[in-house]
Amino acid sequence: MLVEPSHPGNVGAAARALKTMGFSRLIVVAPKIAFVTREPEAIAMASGADDVLASAQVVETLADALNGVHWSIALTARSREYGPPQMAPRAAAEKACEFTGQGQGSSPGAIALVFGNERVGLSNADVERCSALAHIPANPAYSSLNLAQAVQVLAYELRLALLGRADATPVAGLVSASSDEIEGMYTHLEQALVALDFLDPANPKKLMSRLRRLFSRSGLEHEEVNILRGIAKHVLLKIKR
Ligand code: SAH
Repeated sequence: MLVEPSHPGNVGAAARALKTMGFSRLIVVAPKIAFVTREPEAIAMASGADDVLASAQVVETLADALNGVHWSIALTARSREYGPPQMAPRAAAEKACEFTGQGQGSSPGAIALVFGNERVGLSNADVERCSALAHIPANPAYSSLNLAQAVQVLAYELRLALLGRADATPVAGLVSASSDEIEGMYTHLEQALVALDFLDPANPKKLMSRLRRLFSRSGLEHEEVNILRGIAKHVLLKIKR
């Protein structure tokens, strides 16, 4: 997933990076140029991956893009104060493999790599929507890779991880929660905390960011999200009475 990319060439090159590593789903979130996947520069840079480029989905928000995704990695060139747990790209790719097969059917859409805009990177709000944060340990004096090259590095790590797991048995029993389920839970929890006067909407400070950080460390399961929503629901019901 490319969030608000500016340069059509990068979108095409990202499609190529994905295809060379055996992936085919590219989602572009709110590109700076509306029909970026049809730009000549994008098509030229995609080269033989023009099919991946042509079938790329364009959506308005990262929330839309993450609908149904069970595990997402935010790629950042800078470190962040809040946000999900930070992992090395290799460890993040290996962890991601555990979640393939958890989407509808066994679509690779169950996991996502999320990249930011060329100039400003990902917003903190977008990073906080993801399950993990990863940074390519580049030259500390110049650590910002070209967007499509960062896509290449992560797609390669994911390919290696998937190849390594080809004969491994999938983790049984775990039903992880999807991004939209988790976002729904945060909305519900926030309402309950406001109703309890624990969270002041006029001065929310970093409470929700801290709770996001706490829960993203735990790797929420579907049933656990239901329990937390159940608690929020009962708090709201009790206060209304
Ligand atoms: N100036 C921006 C960097 C943008 S580079 C910033 O400070 O955030 C465009 C995108 O490529 C980034 O949002 C990130 O997703 C990816 N990227 C570039 N270098 C990276 C690195 N060293 N590690 C992880 N992702 C990187």
